[in-house]
Amino acid sequence: MKCSQCGVCCKLFLINLTEKEYKSGKYKTQFEEFGLTEDFQEAEMCGANIITQQKDGSCYYLMDGKCSIHNKRPEACRAFFCKSDNPKFKEMIDRMNKYRQKQQSSSHI
Ligand code: SF4
Repeated sequence: MKCSQCGVCCKLFLINLTEKEYKSGKYKTQFEEFGLTEDFQEAEMCGANIITQQKDGSCYYLMDGKCSIHNKRPEACRAFFCKSDNPKFKEMIDRMNKYRQKQQSSSHI
């Protein structure tokens, strides 16, 4: 099954970069205006390895409902699949389903 690129996960979840991704400097991250730290543990502790969010909380790279860096998206985005039956994703998938239900019910008013 393929990702439909609905963009819902990109609106709801923070994306933690791996050490390699963070140190590559290729992704726009929170607090980067203060400079990247060499110490990845420190970056993780303060959330500096998280991709910047837009004002509405969605990922910086979500444009017109689609990932603008789809072929270069971080590992965290590649690993997650909302149709997965892997228990480690259950909480995230439940949250996505609740979000979709809320969207559907508000569009019927
Ligand atoms: S990098 Fe792309 S796939 Fe990952 S959360 Fe952002 S918009 Fe979504």
